[in-house]
Formats: sequence, structure tokens, C-alpha cells
Amino acid sequence: MPPYHFPEKFLISLYVWLLLLLFFCIPCTDAANGLDWQTVETKYTIIHYRTQEELEKFSDKIRYRIEGPVLKGFLFFRGSEDLATTVVKKVDALFEKAQQILDMRKNIKRVTINIHHDKEQLHQAYQDIYNKPCPVRAWYEYAHTTIYININDMHEGMLAHEMAHHIIDNYFLVRPPSATSEILARYVDSHLKK
Ligand SMILES: [Zn+2]
Repeated sequence: MPPYHFPEKFLISLYVWLLLLLFFCIPCTDAANGLDWQTVETKYTIIHYRTQEELEKFSDKIRYRIEGPVLKGFLFFRGSEDLATTVVKKVDALFEKAQQILDMRKNIKRVTINIHHDKEQLHQAYQDIYNKPCPVRAWYEYAHTTIYININDMHEGMLAHEMAHHIIDNYFLVRPPSATSEILARYVDSHLKK
């Protein structure tokens, strides 16, 4: 054996460590704006986010969770399960609650949730789509089947409201007038905790 021949096991573990190093260092050296979207898919949604920190913030802002014998209604949850699993459960529970309040349960296409880093990024997204300044804190775009939110200015009621727009707009054969859907969507966020 030549003197510089490393055992295979050593090389494999070195390779794994290098990969781990790469995995953890890339997100912290990049600015949020330059990062590509990452994705978490749930039963009802496709969540787009850019950093782990943003996904954590998103998760912390949704306290709603599947009702069960132990976990009932609104509970702040932070268990041992991984972040993506927690997010999936919370987002799907919130979506089902919106469906239940509206009594509109139907198989519809999944809605994308774009989590923007800050107000500027959110406003830029609005400008890019509609070519005019953004007058809202969050919105749902039917043509893109997408909810646009700013991670620093969101709460679960706001997210449930935008989910409601998606549910309402896709429930009827003909989309209801925007004033009607706004009344129904407001009904959802105001009845979330009841
Ligand atoms: Zn609305």
C-alpha cells in the first residue's frame, strides 16, 4: 500500500463532511435576494422560500395545527419533528380550517405561497406582475394560483384570508365578483379562532 493511500472509509467520511460544510455555508454567505426559491410541498400548497430562517419565521407565525385529542385548536407547537414536517402540518391544517369555515371542500389545484424577504421584495414582485406600485400587504393572484406574502408582515389570519381567496375563486364554475369573495375571505380570517 502506498504511504498516501487513505482507507476508503476515511475518504467517504471526508467527502460527507465536505458536502455538509458546503450545504451549511452556502445559505449564510448569500444575500436573500440572490438566492433561488426552495420548495416545500404540502397537500394543498407549494411553499416557496429562500432561506431556512424565513421558513422558520413562517412556521412560528402559524400556530394553527390539526385538532386532535391532545393538540386541540391553537397551540404554539415546536416539537422534535423537522421544520418541513411542522410547516406541512400547520399549513394544511390552516387550509382545511379555511375550507371548513367556508364549507367549500373540493379538490382544487394546489396554491403556491411565495414567501418574500421584506416589503421591498414583495413590492417588486407586485410591480413585476401588474406594472404599478403595490397597495397591499399580501395578495392572491388567480392567474398564477399564487399567494404573495412578506415574511416580516404576516400572521396566520392574513394567510388564511389569502387561502380563502384561492378556495372561493376555484370552488364555483364561475368566479364570484371580487367584492363577494372579499367579504367571504374576511369572514374566514375573523372566524379562524372560533
Ligand atoms: Zn382579500
